[in-house]
Amino acid sequence: MTETRDPAEFKKYISSLKPIWCPGCGDYAVLTSLAKAMADNSLPMENTAVITGIGCSSRLPGYLNTYGFNSIHGRAIPIATGLKISRPDVKVIVAGGDGDMFAIGGGHMAHAARRNMDMTLLVMDNNIYGLTKGQASPTTPIGSKTSTTSYGSISTPLNTLKAMLGYNCSFIAQASSTDPVHMTKTIAEAISYPGFSYVNILSPCVTYRGNEQYQIIKSNVVYIEEAHNAGDHVEAWKLVCSSEGKYPLGVIYRDPRPTYGDKVKELRGNAEAGKEWKLEDVGKLFAA
Ligand code: SF4
Repeated sequence: MTETRDPAEFKKYISSLKPIWCPGCGDYAVLTSLAKAMADNSLPMENTAVITGIGCSSRLPGYLNTYGFNSIHGRAIPIATGLKISRPDVKVIVAGGDGDMFAIGGGHMAHAARRNMDMTLLVMDNNIYGLTKGQASPTTPIGSKTSTTSYGSISTPLNTLKAMLGYNCSFIAQASSTDPVHMTKTIAEAISYPGFSYVNILSPCVTYRGNEQYQIIKSNVVYIEEAHNAGDHVEAWKLVCSSEGKYPLGVIYRDPRPTYGDKVKELRGNAEAGKEWKLEDVGKLFAA
């Protein structure tokens, strides 16, 4: 697949700050794909915010010309939630690594997903903590030798796609730094999705997982067939369960439902109109 795009359209989203990621890090491709996806969605820079926590991938806001906040470890989602509720007009994109999001910030994922917060979450999954020098993360494969698992990891890795399906996330997709064109398309679709959209991005850490991580990913990606019914939760589960050991790329699940912002707006409107509330009205309002 090739792209026909005027480079000036997306380069305007990238700041003049030179990334300090290691040469070969998968996060370079994510930065470029995100800028292209922003351009494809014609996102106004003055009305877009990229919120991150701590980690190599969390340096992202500095490399973009949008608004951004490189915040604290594991707390990107609560900060983004506060921003989105107070400024629903702002396009909110959250980004982080597998450790930042699924370990330290793990408790926040379930609630942002079940509430269907209107934001996009990009997780750059490299199966390791890179910034803090190579400790095992929630997605480190069994047997991997890291700075905290000298004899090989003995913990079962988290399947983040299954976790997000279980949390009732309304949009779940997977992309890879090994296929930037596909990644751009997937991120662009996630950004345009009305609700909580999650993209797991396979983004190699060449320093702590070695160059071979690119090869492992390349030889195990499978592209999701067009026939896949992404609107069916059971089909999405079957897809994820049947591809254990492989990396399905594309949209796994997509089922739009009212966002948390929609419900807040409705609540506020009813309150302002002085509508009398009955208990069953509250139940109806919050039914998924
Ligand atoms: Fe990328 Fe790993 Fe280097 Fe961090 S340590 S910048 S994740 S290659």
